[in-house]
Amino acid sequence: MLYFTDVKQDCTGCGACQAVCPTKCITNIVDEEGFWYPNATSECIDCGMCEEVCPIVNSNYHQNDAKQYCIVGKHDNDDVWLSSTSGGAFSAICQVLNNSKLAIFGAKYLDVVNVIHDYVTSINEIDCFKKSKYTQSNMNNCYLDIKEMLLQDYRVVFSGTPCQVAGVKNFLGKDYDNLLCIDLICHGVGSPKIFAKYIEYLEKEQHSSVISFNFRSKKIVNEQLKQDVTKTQFANGKIIENENDIFYNVFIQALILRPSCGECIFANTNRVGDLTIGDFNNMYELMPEVEKSVNFSTIIVNTEKGNMIKDRMNKIMETYPAKLKNIAKYNSALISSTKMNENRSNLFMDLKHGNSVEDVLSKYVLDKS
Ligand SMILES: Cc1cc2nc3c(=O)[nH]c(=O)nc-3n(C[C@H](O)[C@H](O)[C@H](O)COP(=O)(O)OP(=O)(O)OC[C@H]3O[C@@H](n4cnc5c(N)ncnc54)[C@H](O)[C@@H]3O)c2cc1C
Ligand code: SF4
Ligand code: SF4
Ligand code: SF4
Repeated sequence: MLYFTDVKQDCTGCGACQAVCPTKCITNIVDEEGFWYPNATSECIDCGMCEEVCPIVNSNYHQNDAKQYCIVGKHDNDDVWLSSTSGGAFSAICQVLNNSKLAIFGAKYLDVVNVIHDYVTSINEIDCFKKSKYTQSNMNNCYLDIKEMLLQDYRVVFSGTPCQVAGVKNFLGKDYDNLLCIDLICHGVGSPKIFAKYIEYLEKEQHSSVISFNFRSKKIVNEQLKQDVTKTQFANGKIIENENDIFYNVFIQALILRPSCGECIFANTNRVGDLTIGDFNNMYELMPEVEKSVNFSTIIVNTEKGNMIKDRMNKIMETYPAKLKNIAKYNSALISSTKMNENRSNLFMDLKHGNSVEDVLSKYVLDKS
């Protein structure tokens, strides 16, 4: 049996098929753009389980069972806020759910360039998941780990892109009271291969190894927060903060996203997570009570389970109620799929022809400055 499609838009790389396969005959093939796709070998016994769990094929996972409710919030603890991408919603949710048997799943750097999903069992260990990594995270062994932890009565928190949350729900095949899923408002994921090449270029340029790359460092200039400043730390001690980073810009300009992100079936208000978190984008004229020099998180409560923790979050975050229609108006990724840049295939073609990453990214990126 082979339902795996050659249509790249139809596979998000969530890995649920691979996790469920009883003969473990599905391998991941990384294509020229650096994205992985599943493929079955001759060990396939035609059981159909991979198709059953695929969130693109089966969309029974959507579950807005409560009236949606939105807040924008900033964590009360400035250190938590500073070490988070936006207002620290992810940390606040984990804090509310904290207990002695807690397993928190999220995306972390495996090394300087590769991003994987993993879990920790203490709230004190969640720092590795904080800060958005704008390349695709590999779900690794997480599907099996999540099931195992749920069966051992851990309270499990899973955070990831909506396609990953959908993969988890389809893989589990039923709801668990002790599982809470957080999905992100999602613009798309960038190519891990191009990110690796970009890090190599930075290392060559600075004659030193990169030891960390932060996509969303927080920098305040003239009492205004700059939200999209990258921060690179090198082994020789040098730190570069860049307000006009070409990798970040090609990501934002949809030049290096996974093909499925251009036709994302999850970009709508019918969310897959119990809670949806994202940035708070320039809604200041509608919400003058929100201070401009800090960034807040948008939090959308989608289910009864999500609703149950909302009141406790209000105690550790400065929060304001918001309207879903306004959030959608200012944050288009909530309701519509990102339109791929018309130069996307030219960019990948130039790289295939051996042109250097710095030349190719610079050729197609529109300078912000
Ligand atoms: C690829 C990507 C695209 C995004 N696009 C948008 C957008 O268009 N609009 C918008 O409003 N918000 C977007 N976000 C969400 C935003 O960047 C913040 O993650 C969100 O506001 C939560 O902020 P926080 O302060 O709670 O984050 P933090 O405490 O910094 O938490 C970060 C969370 O993101 C998860 N995460 C980090 N990197 C990845 C990854 N590569 N794959 C899966 N999960 C990851 C972590 O597991 C953690 O739960 C995107 C995030 C990612 C990762
Ligand atoms: S049909 Fe069954 S055995 Fe074959 S690849 Fe899919 S899950 Fe694996
Ligand atoms: S389950 Fe996920 S990885 Fe597998 S084919 Fe479907 S979308 Fe692709
Ligand atoms: S845009 Fe859609 S397909 Fe792409 S990573 Fe986000 S949820 Fe998955």
